[in-house]
Amino acid sequence: MLEKGNIYEAVITDYTAEGQGVAKIEGCAVFVPNAIVGERCRVTIEKAAKNWAAGKIVEILEKSSHRVQRQCPISASCGGCDFWHMDYEEETRLKAQRVTDCLNHLGGETLETVEILAAPDCHGYRNKAQYPVASRKGRVYAGFFKAGTHTVVENKRCLILPEDTDRVKDIVIDYVNHFRISAYDEAAHKGLLRHIYVRRGAVSKQVLVCLVVNGRKLPHAEDLIARLQEVPGFTTLVLSVNTKKGNTILGDEFIALYGPGYIEDTLCGLDFRLSARSFYQVNHHQAQRLYDAAISQAGITKEDTVLDLYCGVGTITLCMAKAAGKVIGVEVIPQAVEDARENAKRNGIENAEFFCGDAGAAALELERQGVKADVVVVDPPRKGLNADAIEALARFNPRRIVYVSCDPATLGRDVALLKERGYAVKNAMAADLFPRCAHVESIVCFVRK
Ligand code: SAH
Repeated sequence: MLEKGNIYEAVITDYTAEGQGVAKIEGCAVFVPNAIVGERCRVTIEKAAKNWAAGKIVEILEKSSHRVQRQCPISASCGGCDFWHMDYEEETRLKAQRVTDCLNHLGGETLETVEILAAPDCHGYRNKAQYPVASRKGRVYAGFFKAGTHTVVENKRCLILPEDTDRVKDIVIDYVNHFRISAYDEAAHKGLLRHIYVRRGAVSKQVLVCLVVNGRKLPHAEDLIARLQEVPGFTTLVLSVNTKKGNTILGDEFIALYGPGYIEDTLCGLDFRLSARSFYQVNHHQAQRLYDAAISQAGITKEDTVLDLYCGVGTITLCMAKAAGKVIGVEVIPQAVEDARENAKRNGIENAEFFCGDAGAAALELERQGVKADVVVVDPPRKGLNADAIEALARFNPRRIVYVSCDPATLGRDVALLKERGYAVKNAMAADLFPRCAHVESIVCFVRK
């Protein structure tokens, strides 16, 4: 076992899923943040367990040619991003490698490194921010959590957000400090404001401001609304009531204090209504490329019925509607299903139907009722497909399955399960929707064997 406090010399040979460097020291895996593969460093051990340890760079003896000056001055402490210390070439290389490794090691594939759709721009791409708030000496501030903690690192200007989004945050913080509105204190479960959530349509430029509060009322709301009028495109102010303890950001109840409670945006040539509670990909440009890839891999014809599981506001479903005979979307969040139905109407799409429920359970029920699916698209959250969803896919026995994933590990697991159910991987690729952050999307197309 390595000793805490000791300094060892090591070479970084790999990355964790969270983007930390990995070095092997005396047979033990040591996780080293802010390290780049190929670098030789002196590492101090901060925590030592039996088979692994957490280390910290004391000195870099041999620097990677991919190491760059950090453009974000607070990125070493802010947990929002992971990769400001390396160039984008290394970031996309490691992301493609991670997807490939998961498909090979967990999914039993033997792929060469998969292609990655790299982003053209790492700045200002996020259309959504959720800033936690905290207070110090009576002053409230906002930022992002330090990695692995709930300590808020104050953020004046976040480089992956548009300036207007940070401006909304500043306006809310000024208003909060002006009226002495309290920040939520997790330990005491007291205080009002928990998160400032801002979503801005990349095309429409409409801005939704949602304040997550431990209560049901916002004092001096009219004053905040007046201040927010300064922000170009400000469309709606919503309260999200979250009086529960725990990590979940949004509450279940939403109260529109100004405007309709949703914004609109255009994606892949279609118009979408987006409620505060509904999922919408944060990187508009890269989402369009991802959906284009999904559509082309689905190989849909006019005779086909397409089932889109985990459909959100119907983005992929409606993009596929034109090429298909019929499309059916399934989504668990009621507000998102309402958005999806409304979105079909807005775009004059008449061959789309949406159901609210757990994707697996709803798909099994549809199959029981005799619905046929020629092509199935799945885009689950990080935990991947549950047993019902896998069973439903096997029973539908579609010609193709297009799996869009935000976690390569659960994707790898599900690839193995779908292979047992008679499917083969035809195509796999990665897509970078989160430049500077460790998350990576991927897309796999399966064909029936
Ligand atoms: N395909 C959509 C949404 C993908 S995100 C898009 O690209 O915009 C995953 C979606 O799955 C979210 O909308 C989430 O609310 C939904 N979801 C999560 N668990 C679910 C479940 N058990 N059944 C159905 N939908 C679920």
